[in-house]
Amino acid sequence: MPIHILTPTVAAQIAAGEVIERPASVIKELVENALDAGASQISVEARGGGLRELKVQDNGCGIPADEVELAFERHATSKLHEADDLWALQTLGFRGEALPSIASVAQVVCITRSVSSELGTELRIAGGEVQYREARGCSPGTSISVRNLFYNTPVRRDYLRSDATELSAISQVVQQYALASPDVRFTLLLDGRLALQTSGNGDLRDVVIELYGLEVARQLLPIAADYGEGLEAVHLNGLVSPPGLTRGTRSSMHLFVNRRAIQPRGPLAAVVTEAYHTMLMKGRHPLLVLDLRVHPAAVDVNIHPTKSEVRFRYQARVAGVVGRVVRDALLTQSDAQAWRDSMPTETVQRRFEVRPPAPLASAWNVGSTAWTPLSRWDVGGAPATPAVPAAPAEQPDDHPPLEDTADLEPVRVLEPDEDEAPAQPSALPPLRWWGRWGLHILWPSRLMECT
Ligand code: ADP
Ligand code: MG
Repeated sequence: MPIHILTPTVAAQIAAGEVIERPASVIKELVENALDAGASQISVEARGGGLRELKVQDNGCGIPADEVELAFERHATSKLHEADDLWALQTLGFRGEALPSIASVAQVVCITRSVSSELGTELRIAGGEVQYREARGCSPGTSISVRNLFYNTPVRRDYLRSDATELSAISQVVQQYALASPDVRFTLLLDGRLALQTSGNGDLRDVVIELYGLEVARQLLPIAADYGEGLEAVHLNGLVSPPGLTRGTRSSMHLFVNRRAIQPRGPLAAVVTEAYHTMLMKGRHPLLVLDLRVHPAAVDVNIHPTKSEVRFRYQARVAGVVGRVVRDALLTQSDAQAWRDSMPTETVQRRFEVRPPAPLASAWNVGSTAWTPLSRWDVGGAPATPAVPAAPAEQPDDHPPLEDTADLEPVRVLEPDEDEAPAQPSALPPLRWWGRWGLHILWPSRLMECT
């Protein structure tokens, strides 16, 4: 067979195989786009196990009318211009793969209006081909509806699990982003039923209450630390469970690096688990949310198409800080019976500067490798990317608005799969682990690094 260049549609379908494995992958990509667009409200809907319809709508910056088709081209992105930008990334996306991949394996309706335009655009694409385009009135923001996912790739469709399993995976994705962005109001509707509603008030503990309930949330211990400056800076915030509060799987270990969710299995998870050393029974795992921020140039997020793994430039340093801060919180606070606003923070303040979580964009001075001094962080500040509407706007007309659903049924937490093979922290292969991160001895009051 002679060599030839694949058509864009075929190339996008092949790429979709990497990026879009199941309905939850679509939600991940669309939610990331909404966050990158600076949305303060994101509504997610799924029907029929996510195959019949997935919809994500946001009140972010929207797509200008003359760029809507371009957004569905492969390698088309507004987030990256040259290779060096990879080292100053403040966005979750950057590959320009998601929209074309989704549109190549589904029927997509995109309704969007940029803040600076008076009119919006409706674009319909199926199997990678534009079917319909028209200017239309709608509110600023973007709504993307993905229908009949995998309609033209039946094998992939056949490999999906039950509707309930797929909806559960979607729910977990939304929960992750809600934890990573407490300042964004998330709504999740599964088959028309309200499954999650966060307030978007910026308080991480409130999101935890929403997901795990008040009893769990009040037991969690706060952690907060700022170490170093510039490229070597490491900032950590979050909540960790005391040793008595554990789970049978790692699915409640929520790890975020620069707001990106990281698999709870790699070296970072190992460091956290090690901080609980001797405190956990075999096969038990902590429940925690770690919001780790490092300089964009000190982390490589371009390892995997789904970007769920990262590599640090200063792995040993990051590991040292994370291990030390978590261990310290456990040793100094874990006898706390009840959580009160002031109590745990004071304990931590003895040794670490405490600060509230800050939006990523305001935390970094991307023009240089300099770390923006803490005092100048704009804690309530601007979202990650382009111009954002000043106030939450109404949603595009033909979709339900991001209405206040607080009076509907309360949120249900989807329990983690208890059938996951139990990990055994104390059985970590010490040589390999230490070899990867350098040898650190965790001591209650100091971290010793042995080279
Ligand atoms: P990437 O996110 O890697 O840039 P995508 O294919 O996901 O690639 O999106 C392509 C482009 O479309 C984005 O770079 C962005 O400019 C635009 N876009 C996608 N979704 C949205 C959204 N919800 N709001 C505003 N712009 C969006
Ligand atoms: Mg994207």
